[in-house]
Amino acid sequence: MPGFEVIGKEEMDQIAQIFKNGGVLFRQGFDNLRNNCFKVKEFETAFAKEKSSQYSLAVSSGTAALRVALASINIEEGDEVITQSFTFVATVEAIVEARAKPIICNIDETLNMDPIELRKCINEKTKAIIAVHMLGVPARIKEIKKICDEKNIHLIEDTAWGCGGNLDGKKLGTFGSIGTYSFDFAKTMTTGEGGMLVFRDKGIFEKASAWHDHGHQNNPNVPRWEDTRDTSGFNFRMTELQGAVGIAQLKKLNGVIHQQRLNKQMIKKELEELDNIKFRELPEGSFETADALIFFTKNKSIAIKCRNILVENGLNTKILPEAYTWHFAATWEHIKEIPENNPNYKKYLEPSEKLLSRAVSIPISINMNKDNPKKIKKLLKSVLS
Ligand SMILES: *Cc1c(COP(=O)(O)O)cnc(C)c1O
Repeated sequence: MPGFEVIGKEEMDQIAQIFKNGGVLFRQGFDNLRNNCFKVKEFETAFAKEKSSQYSLAVSSGTAALRVALASINIEEGDEVITQSFTFVATVEAIVEARAKPIICNIDETLNMDPIELRKCINEKTKAIIAVHMLGVPARIKEIKKICDEKNIHLIEDTAWGCGGNLDGKKLGTFGSIGTYSFDFAKTMTTGEGGMLVFRDKGIFEKASAWHDHGHQNNPNVPRWEDTRDTSGFNFRMTELQGAVGIAQLKKLNGVIHQQRLNKQMIKKELEELDNIKFRELPEGSFETADALIFFTKNKSIAIKCRNILVENGLNTKILPEAYTWHFAATWEHIKEIPENNPNYKKYLEPSEKLLSRAVSIPISINMNKDNPKKIKKLLKSVLS
């Protein structure tokens, strides 16, 4: 699980540096007060380096990152943006906030976007695709990217759960035009609230940078109050406090993922001995962040039995099977744009529902009790056989 397990002195020291240097909590300006202490900029630079990406932009949340991404590629009212049925509700909220139409695509046994289904969802109104690396497993991003290139559509990767993962050695979030990340308190690295974008294209980056700051171009030749601008925007800026925590958390990211992968492997090794389950599929070349271990049971009632036996014994599941209503688009009647733009969506999304309703997700923590793998196996065995 997440970066919050390793929060400590390094984060406190980073924050202390801000206050030792004048206490400027704004990402730019106030040069005479801050003794050259720019935490958000330092965090952006380090993050871009970690992703081998040229441009990065820190924002106030992962949801804001998605919204800024859509603004930066000029998504307009009525444009269609495709995303997958299994994601957090924020992905669709960002599309709706951009006044675009959210189109929902089925998933496959990776529990991420099915490239074959994606082709069926594309038409002449499609302007962007948001693929999600859900719970840290890479999407079939090479196939998806190929389709996007062929059709000349922007690819955005919602990498909220995939920070630090890669496919064939290429970091998740760097395959498409834009990668977005979340640093909320439940994610692999955290700044409390916060997010980041990485870009390949300088023009798209500049548009995003201005848009997240009321259109400010931060023209170095004029003071901020005389700054130049081309478009309207909004305020999705990250504060220096978040930036400081981010610098410390980023340094811990590889260690966190290393430990998660080890712990996941220990649980998986035990569960491989069980009958009647099938593990979530991983695309070839995946280096997952190992945020959760997911397996399919025969049906929904067995999945719920698995959850209940774990909870009764002081263990837990994560999102599946108990909380998929926050993470499965066919249950989001409260977002009217889903029924409006996806006729017969409940019927169309039945294959997704069939997979999700019989899936069980075991959360992986860094500080795992060493007895857990055997305990989990024993409990599951009692309901699976
Ligand atoms: C967490 C999450 C987000 C939103 O991030 P916040 O920082 O909480 O706004 C977006 N997409 C997915 C898939 C997420 O899991």
